[in-house]
Amino acid sequence: MNITNFFEIDEKLLKFDKKALEKCKKQFQRIDEITEFNQLKVLSAFIKNGVSEASFSGSTGYGYDDRGREVLERVMADCMGAEDALIRHNFVSGTHTLTVALFGVLRPNDKVICLTGRPYDTITGVFGIDSVTDGSLADFGVLYGQVDLKADGMPDIAEIKRVLKAEKPKMAYIQRSRGYSTRPSLRIDDIKEIIDAVKEVSPESIIMVDNCYGEFVETKEPCEIGADIIAGSLIKNPGGGIAPTGGYIAGKKELIEKCSYRLTCAGVGREVGATLGHSRELYLGLFSAPHVVGEALKTAIYTAALFELLGFSVTPKSDETRGDIIQCVTLGSAEGLVAFCQGMQSGAPVDSFVVPEPWEMPGYTDPVIMAAGAFTLGASIELSADGPLREPYAAWMQGGLNFHSAKAGVLLAAQKMLTKGAINI
Ligand SMILES: *Cc1c(COP(=O)(O)O)cnc(C)c1O
Repeated sequence: MNITNFFEIDEKLLKFDKKALEKCKKQFQRIDEITEFNQLKVLSAFIKNGVSEASFSGSTGYGYDDRGREVLERVMADCMGAEDALIRHNFVSGTHTLTVALFGVLRPNDKVICLTGRPYDTITGVFGIDSVTDGSLADFGVLYGQVDLKADGMPDIAEIKRVLKAEKPKMAYIQRSRGYSTRPSLRIDDIKEIIDAVKEVSPESIIMVDNCYGEFVETKEPCEIGADIIAGSLIKNPGGGIAPTGGYIAGKKELIEKCSYRLTCAGVGREVGATLGHSRELYLGLFSAPHVVGEALKTAIYTAALFELLGFSVTPKSDETRGDIIQCVTLGSAEGLVAFCQGMQSGAPVDSFVVPEPWEMPGYTDPVIMAAGAFTLGASIELSADGPLREPYAAWMQGGLNFHSAKAGVLLAAQKMLTKGAINI
């Protein structure tokens, strides 16, 4: 009894599957330990804050006196080891959430320095890095600076100290996840090293972390090691695959208060915002998040192990400690990348019959191919992969609501590559 009861997988590939699982054992045990710790952290936050069935009832109109919303924000603060938090379905994306946090805290003539090189694509427009776009921070007179990463993709601590000592910026900005770059993701220990450096030379700087893709990957979150404010998306890790949309900001009480005035209006802040019956999904998603992140991590580790054995280069490697849920697999050829995405799509619970093709995308110089068959549009906590059709033909893969289903998707990706002659075994 195995996957071949339901899907056609080559005997030779099944041998690699078996070897890959064997190779993952130790890492899986580590992931189970992290998952259990984070699950208990979340459970205690629910218990401590007295979540009850009444917390799930939704408000309409202005959303005054929405007790469920208030309790959820307390729970989220505790889950992130923060003083306070905002968690709302009204945040339309991760980028919007980060934007509210940045505009909430920064004022004209303040300077923000990004310490982890060029930020995630959509955030460059929010800062107004390349040009002063309408509505960007630059448009409002907020200055931007950047400390590039070293050649190995890691933060340049000496340069960070030098620049911050000279500039003493209002905000130091850190991106935890690699996003779609080739640099490694930052582990909590790496972030701590940056934060310690900032505190040493510029203790007044507000430290903000873009926490996207990083929640519940390790046993500590950035606020627990000195970050002042963090933000992320609910259709990634902390929504547990259940939140239909939304985002969160967590951190120091006075900073969260400032963000609340940007989220709604000066003087009104967090006291409004109808939950419209979405509270239950946000609670349930947050409760499920540590487990779902564990499943996504196992999927990433298994993929790394399988493709290492099949002779491909992968980052991170199967035995490396991870800072986020993203797995990059270098497939070496356009045919390989296309087959990988098409095979993965064929194993999705939703839209399995769709055959993805490379397509021109705004903002990209090369055509991009994507595999995504998700319950929530664009949710990358669900199994998904994409990559631009250019050297080295790498796929960035992430997510997986449960390991068993996601593993089938990965095997089908490899099977399609085998059928197309893009794997030699
Ligand atoms: C996903 C992500 C964002 C926000 O992206 P949205 O698509 O707007 O949700 C920001 N930063 C990083 C590192 C991300 O991975």
